[in-house]
Amino acid sequence: MSNGTAIIDTSTIVKGVDPKAPVPITVARGDGIGPEIMDATLRILDAAGAPLRYDTIDIGKEVYLQGHTSGIAPESWETIRRNKVFLKAPITTPLGGGYKSLNVTIRKTLNLFANVRPSKSYAPFVASTHPGINLVVVRENEEDLYAGIEHQQTDEVSQVLKLVTRPGSERIIRYAFEYARAYGRRKVTCMTKDNIMKLTDGLFHRVFEEVAEEYPDIESEHQIIDIGAARLAAQPETFDVIVTLNLYGDILSDIASQVSGSVGLAGSANIGDEVAMFEAVHGSAPDIAGKDVANPSGLLLAATQLLVHIGEAEIAERIKNAWLTTLESGIHTADIYREGLSRREVGTQEFTEAVIERLGQRPRQLAPVQYRPGGIEVSPKPRPRRVKELVGVDAFLDWAAADRDPNVLGRGLRAGTPGGWELKMITNRGVKVYPDGLPETFCTDHWRCRFVRTDGGPTDLPAVLELLGALGGAGFDVIKTEHLYTFDGERGYSLGQGE
Ligand code: NAD
Repeated sequence: MSNGTAIIDTSTIVKGVDPKAPVPITVARGDGIGPEIMDATLRILDAAGAPLRYDTIDIGKEVYLQGHTSGIAPESWETIRRNKVFLKAPITTPLGGGYKSLNVTIRKTLNLFANVRPSKSYAPFVASTHPGINLVVVRENEEDLYAGIEHQQTDEVSQVLKLVTRPGSERIIRYAFEYARAYGRRKVTCMTKDNIMKLTDGLFHRVFEEVAEEYPDIESEHQIIDIGAARLAAQPETFDVIVTLNLYGDILSDIASQVSGSVGLAGSANIGDEVAMFEAVHGSAPDIAGKDVANPSGLLLAATQLLVHIGEAEIAERIKNAWLTTLESGIHTADIYREGLSRREVGTQEFTEAVIERLGQRPRQLAPVQYRPGGIEVSPKPRPRRVKELVGVDAFLDWAAADRDPNVLGRGLRAGTPGGWELKMITNRGVKVYPDGLPETFCTDHWRCRFVRTDGGPTDLPAVLELLGALGGAGFDVIKTEHLYTFDGERGYSLGQGE
């Protein structure tokens, strides 16, 4: 592992011992239309002079049916890990239970922390309701509510842990800025809900502001996710690169795909510290498999992402501009063919030939692309650890007395609190209900009781255990605790609503 530093070790892959040696990449031809569009893509890569060597592995339906429930044979992992760069065609997930999503397995197993999904319209050559859209959603892929840490704590209440980390945030945000530079983009928009979640989303926003300062050449802005999502749906052309947390990114990337109307032309990348996987957004389209009608563009554009990723920006540019020129020429596969807009309907192979013929040409009406050489690398900045001090504890109780009167609970807790500790407040679903709560506030069986030290004695684990022991002894059902810390004197916990 590279300790979260380089996205890909280009020193071994690209520069290598012999700079002219081809870069080995793993290729999976998938099933359905997978083999046809992979053949088309590799032909174009070869014709453009991409310095790549292909190690092919089997994934998908046949592998599932051989009894590998993840859709990939154990020996294929070694090839993927060794080559570090993986171009994957779509696969068919067999119907029936027990089969796991290969994408989720690959993403989780290989720590692919960034999901990068460009959305673009190619009007007037491909019909679109938003002709000006040209944006990329860079979604954090591992943290946030998707860490999958859930607990039912009382009869009435379940919780999920939303984890946002400084290294995880820094890595994805740096990636977004590096991506913007590599792809000649001008603006990065961060979206969070930090007006509500000040510590988790607030951390992501703060790290964004810090990292943005290091990229004065790239414009940066922050939008609250709700209005940001609304603007994305209504005015997608105002966005360039969007970087955001896992759940928001999941939703935003689907909104962006939908409004661009070009899902069939979209590629996507999943990027990790070591390994990166590139694929089309669409599936294996079994309805048109083997008919030479599939559009290879989604996979081809994913392959251009792959080339920029490994530092072959010039070849990526050559391919993308030839592809744009082909679209402009009106040479279209059936999925995007429109009477009046298109000139000639072609199959997969003829479309591939048309792109190859146009290598070296630049589009006239659609904006040609220009990528910066150098590839994408992310190096987090070292920072000193801050001084952490324990200043109190939130004890969560399961308490379901008949009338659920917070004043009864408060008085009972005060009577059971050992010397040196004081009950500061009780909240229910985050709202302060004691002391001085309002009778209208609805109360569940899940109570957060905040205790602080009052006697100047140590606030440490033995003191906390003494408190919990006393509460247990007084008959209270403590279901969990959260320690209240300060970091360099700064409060590391939220106040109760009304505290
Ligand atoms: P799909 O994307 O395969 O097809 C949806 C529609 O779009 C179909 O009418 C299809 O003919 C058309 N289409 C898709 N790609 C096209 C292309 N390149 N050119 C022309 N037309 C194209 O979605 P689906 O039908 O819901 O799924 C089919 C299979 O693919 C399922 O088994 C699903 O699990 C799998 N799938 C795989 C991936 C992946 O491997 N990344 C992603 C999505 C779906």
